[in-house]
Amino acid sequence: SPATRHVHPSPSDYGTANKNEARKYLRTYGLAPPGIDSYENQMKRCLGILEMKKTNIEKYQYLSVLRNTNVHLFYRLLSNNVKELTPLIYTPTVGEACQRWSELYTQPEGLYLSFADKGNLASVIENWPHEVEITVVTDGSRILGLGDLGINGMGIPVGKLSLYTACAGINPLKTLPITLDLGTNNQDLINDPLYLGSRRPKVTADEEREFLDEMMAALTERWPSIVIQYEDFKNPFPSLERYKDTYTMFNDDIQGTGAVILAGFINAVKQSGVPAKDQRAVFLGAGSAGVGVAKQLAAFFINEGLTEDEARKCFWLVDSKGMVTNDREGELADHKRYFSRDDNNGEQYKTLEEVVDYVKPTILMGLSTIGGAFTPQILEKMAAMNERPVVFPLSNPSSKSECTFEDAIKYTKGKCLFASGSPFPTLDFEGQKLVPGQGNNMYVFPGIGLGAILSKSVSVTQAMIYASAEALSTSLLPEEVEKNWLYPAIERIRDVSVVVTRGVIRSAQAEKVDRELALRNMTDDQLDDYIRARMYDPFKEHDKITNEINALIKGIAS
Ligand code: NAP
Ligand code: MN
Repeated sequence: SPATRHVHPSPSDYGTANKNEARKYLRTYGLAPPGIDSYENQMKRCLGILEMKKTNIEKYQYLSVLRNTNVHLFYRLLSNNVKELTPLIYTPTVGEACQRWSELYTQPEGLYLSFADKGNLASVIENWPHEVEITVVTDGSRILGLGDLGINGMGIPVGKLSLYTACAGINPLKTLPITLDLGTNNQDLINDPLYLGSRRPKVTADEEREFLDEMMAALTERWPSIVIQYEDFKNPFPSLERYKDTYTMFNDDIQGTGAVILAGFINAVKQSGVPAKDQRAVFLGAGSAGVGVAKQLAAFFINEGLTEDEARKCFWLVDSKGMVTNDREGELADHKRYFSRDDNNGEQYKTLEEVVDYVKPTILMGLSTIGGAFTPQILEKMAAMNERPVVFPLSNPSSKSECTFEDAIKYTKGKCLFASGSPFPTLDFEGQKLVPGQGNNMYVFPGIGLGAILSKSVSVTQAMIYASAEALSTSLLPEEVEKNWLYPAIERIRDVSVVVTRGVIRSAQAEKVDRELALRNMTDDQLDDYIRARMYDPFKEHDKITNEINALIKGIAS
């Protein structure tokens, strides 16, 4: 009797691109229309249907159904159209999808772990029917900039994992989106009859910690080399501190964001031509993001040969009260002390413009949430003082960006090296097409994840995160550097992810946290080939089926 691979075909097995042999083998012959499609035709049909949908949320829903019914086709479509489709499967559309998750719910797409199941999480995790290499976990408590959305936050792990697959070729069948139902303090959700989470108030920090302890242990018990990425937790620091050394985990909001800014910064510093020791960076915003980013950038200066103290002194922070100095009135928050200055000679510089006049910075970073804070006057001053001023307005969304790309170019006469947190359109400037740099986490997290998976690292160290940034900064093609880009073209994301993955693996090896020791002996070229070969390729999935069938036929014949 013919051996069968599946008792029940999976939804993807009905795809119209499957050849007749495959259909017979998969027992889907006769269950799909007789015509056999090319990949191009399939994608053309999908894009046509997508075009018919009037709203982005309808497009999102169509793509979700496609992912659930023909996963390989979904990823062929996504891989070929990363730039166009990412806004539909992730930000900004995923924000609305999360806000309306319970209203629009149609199909299961991940694992929900409830506080009510505390003590039994291992048995709930046991229900997941696949092997897992990586999971993205959220508790829904701070979804994008939209606040506490409870279990409606599931759109985030689902979308983010789609990007892991599209950008770094992580096998979609080995990804696990997890949303924790730890209650919600969002009264609108509690009152919403369609809300699909529990209606209890958010658990306490202690209860959450115990729950996470159990979850981390249970996940790693079932899948010993699982990579666990935390996302969109309201207070991300305690879990990162608690688990970063004992589990293969990282937090993309903190570490991925830091790394991607660092990569753009490394390239900006290189292109500015000013050596690290002569750089002077003014930060508007001294919140957790501002201080966190400044520390990461200081690490780069230290790598460039500065002492920690010299590196620290390259930074001047400005908050709502003005320049952060030691002799300022009132108590200074703990996190601001590290960069607090003594060089103000008793002066209190209150406005950003005053600080710019005094410091004469080479670099201006914005993490203040104050839209337009980099005024035309300030931008003009940056251009007057510097050959290539570095201007990074990083606040999100675009409305809070400290300046637009257009203004940055206009008032620095095209001289600035620019990267922003939110996207801005390209510009025509003096006959040139200028492309703004965007510090998009997509450049790093897929490679961090794949690097951790392939090296089977026991943890994700700070050095590995740093290495992801350094690798990203080297991933630009000569023609991209020529155009003064700080980040590579997003269309090349799969190639970029290979470079980032290699950097992360090498760092894991240097730190001796890797468990896949065979990779240590490979040359860089061999390692790149290995990474590419391990990447899931949605175009090759059918070849695999064909090969399986051929092997089977051979087996029967012999
Ligand atoms: P936060 O904790 O609210 O910090 C904001 C900082 O800006 C505080 O230090 C605040 O001063 C200061 N500030 C507020 N109004 C000001 C004013 N009028 N003049 C001068 N300083 C002012 O926020 P956060 O979490 O650090 O995030 C800040 C921004 O960074 C957000 O927009 C976020 O989207 C963005 N961010 C972007 C990325 C990225 O990848 N691009 C990554 C992380 C964060 P006080 O300390 O005196 O209150
Ligand atoms: Mn996030």
